[in-house]
Amino acid sequence: MTTTDQAGARPGPVLEAISITKSYGHNTVLRDVSLEVFPGEVVCIIGPSGAGKSTFLRTLNRLEAPDSGEVWVGGMPMGFQLRAGRLHELNERKLSAQRAQTGMVFQHFNLFPHLTALGNVMEGPVQVQRRSSREARGEAVALLERVGLGDKVDHYPGQLSGGQRQRVAIARAVAMKPLFLLFDEPTSALDPELVGEVLTVMADLAREGMTMLVVTHEIAFARQVADRVVFMADGGIVEQGPVEQVLENPQEARTRQFLQRVLE
Ligand code: ADP
Repeated sequence: MTTTDQAGARPGPVLEAISITKSYGHNTVLRDVSLEVFPGEVVCIIGPSGAGKSTFLRTLNRLEAPDSGEVWVGGMPMGFQLRAGRLHELNERKLSAQRAQTGMVFQHFNLFPHLTALGNVMEGPVQVQRRSSREARGEAVALLERVGLGDKVDHYPGQLSGGQRQRVAIARAVAMKPLFLLFDEPTSALDPELVGEVLTVMADLAREGMTMLVVTHEIAFARQVADRVVFMADGGIVEQGPVEQVLENPQEARTRQFLQRVLE
C-alpha cells in the first residue's frame, strides 16, 4: 500500500523512468516509456511476449543502458553522478553499489552454484556493501527463515527445488536493503506446483510494505497484490491504473484482447 509522510503529503517517487527508448539494431524495443513508482507501491507489468517488459526492467537498474531517457532511483540519476550541475557516468564499482539499491529477482534465479543458500544471501552485503560477516550472517539466517527456508541454510542451489531457489534469490535481493525490488517473471521458469510458494513470499513482502515492480504472467497475483497494473505492448505503455480499472474494465482494445486470451 502507498504510504504518506507525516504531513500527509505523498512522498516523491522512489523510481522514475522518463521517456526511455531502446533499440537492438533496427528493432525498436522501447518507445518513450515513462513510469513512476512510489514508496510502498506494488506495480505489476503485464503484456504479451516481446512487448519489451523485461528490457524495460533491465534499463531501470542499467543492466541495459537506454539509448535515451533517464532513470532516477531514490532521487539520484541511475548510472550517473551529478557534479557541478553535470552528469558523469559512474564506474563499474559505483554502478554495482547503486544497483544494489534496486534488488532484482530474475526468471532463472542466478544463484551462485558454489555457495550455500546462506552464502548466496550474505554475498552482496559482505562483498558489495562491506558489512561485517557476523551481522550479515544473522540477517541472512533471519531472511531465509522469513521465506520459509530456515532448515535449508546450508543447502547448495543444486540441492534445492526451483521454488526454494527462487525464495533464496528473493532473500538475497532483500538482504541488500534495497529501495525497491524488481521482479522479472519470477515464476515463469517454475513447475506449476512450485509457483504458489514463491507468490506467497512475494505477497507477504508486499503486505509488509516493500516497494515492488513485478513483470508477471500471473494475472491472479496482480489482481490480489498490485496497487497498479501497467499493460505494455509493442514497446510502450498502452494503459495503466488501479487493478479494478485495467483488469476489470480495460479502456483499450489491445488490453481487452490480451486479457481475453490469457484468461480464457
Ligand atoms: P518481453 O519481456 O515483453 O517478452 P523483451 O524485453 O524480452 O520482451 O523483448 C522485447 C524485444 O527485444 C524482443 O523482440 C526481443 O527479441 C528483443 N531483445 C531483447 N533483448 C535483446 C538483446 N539482448 N539483443 C537483441 N534483441 C533483444
